[in-house]
Amino acid sequence: MTIRCDIVTQERIVFSEEVDMVVAPGVDGVLGILPHHSPLLTTLQFGELLIRKGGQEQSFAIGGGILEVRPDHVTVLADAAEQADEIDTARAEAARHRAEELLKQGLPPGSDRFAEIENAIKRSNVRLKVGVKRRRSGPPPSINMGGN
Ligand code: ATP
Repeated sequence: MTIRCDIVTQERIVFSEEVDMVVAPGVDGVLGILPHHSPLLTTLQFGELLIRKGGQEQSFAIGGGILEVRPDHVTVLADAAEQADEIDTARAEAARHRAEELLKQGLPPGSDRFAEIENAIKRSNVRLKVGVKRRRSGPPPSINMGGN
C-alpha cells in the first residue's frame, strides 16, 4: 500500500512518486502520513521533510508552504524545496552570512524587510542541516519499515 506524494514549488516539480510514508514539518509539529490518512490541510514550517519508500529514506529541505493530505495523495506546495543531494551548502552558508550581515547593519526604522531577512536565515539553516547531514551519511540509508 502506497500514497502518492507531490512536492511542488512555483518553479518546478521537485518530487512526484508513490511512497510508503511522508514525514513533514507541520506548523504544530512533525506529521507522519501513511496511506489512508484522514484529509488534512495545514501550514508547513521551515524544516526537513522525509520520504520513506521501499526501505529507503530521502530528505528534502522545505522553506515553508502548505500541505494537503487526502487518503491516497499528499501534496506539498512549498515556498522553497530542494532534495538533500541537490543542496549547495556553500551557497546556503553565503546566503545565511549575507542575511546576518544585513541584520547586524540594522534596518532603517519602519523597514518591512525584517521578516524577509529572518526567512532567508531560516531557509539557509534548513538547507545546511539537510545538506550537511546528507554529506555525512552518504547515499540514502536503508531503514527498517517495520514490515510495511
Ligand atoms: P540564495 O540567496 O542563495 O539565492 P534564496 O533562498 O534566496 O537563496 P532563491 O534565489 O529564491 O534562493 O532560489 C532560486 C532557486 O535556487 C530555487 O529553485 C531554490 O530552490 C534554489 N536554491 C536556493 N538556494 C539553494 C542552495 N543552497 N542549494 C540548492 N538550491 C538552492
